[in-house]
Amino acid sequence: MKKVFIYFFAFLFICFILPALLTKSETNASSETSNEEDNKQESEEVLEPYTYNQYGTIKLLHTDTNEVEEVVLDTYLCNVVSAEMPVDFEREALKAQAIVARTYTIYKINNKKHDNADICDDSTCCQAWISKEDRLARWDGDKEAKWNKIEECVKETQGKIITYNHAPINAFFHSNSGGKTELPVDVWGGR
Ligand SMILES: [Zn+2]
Repeated sequence: MKKVFIYFFAFLFICFILPALLTKSETNASSETSNEEDNKQESEEVLEPYTYNQYGTIKLLHTDTNEVEEVVLDTYLCNVVSAEMPVDFEREALKAQAIVARTYTIYKINNKKHDNADICDDSTCCQAWISKEDRLARWDGDKEAKWNKIEECVKETQGKIITYNHAPINAFFHSNSGGKTELPVDVWGGR
């Protein structure tokens, strides 16, 4: 007799209670999505969208000579990516580095650290940079093929940056975390 009750309640649970619970969680999920969409529409009305074309060239400060050079942004990014990451890394890693470097550069253009330039070539101040000539001199093997790989990865990510509310994020990156990471707020302040 006891068994009959157990089966009966199991039957009730599967037929009525379980579907009711599932429907409820779906309803919650869809109302969250529509809230997100509302926020999105709100922020689109307030903020200017990112337009890549406004960043054709940038002013690069060479810290060894103190000269400021006007360079094409994507050419500059080839120099940065080849300075920041080994060329034999996977293409997707190089492309990710290109996007982060582009984001960081555009953030710097809008949040200048130097009076007469957008960014400098010192990795401890702004972002690493190496001239194509110096880069090729330090590589072995098929140097042009290696440079082409860098150029292709930058080109394949053209215009792509990481944004939050349509503004470029302050895209910090490191070559090696030493096994641990820390929240930016605990290092530099800010969120
Ligand atoms: Zn700098």
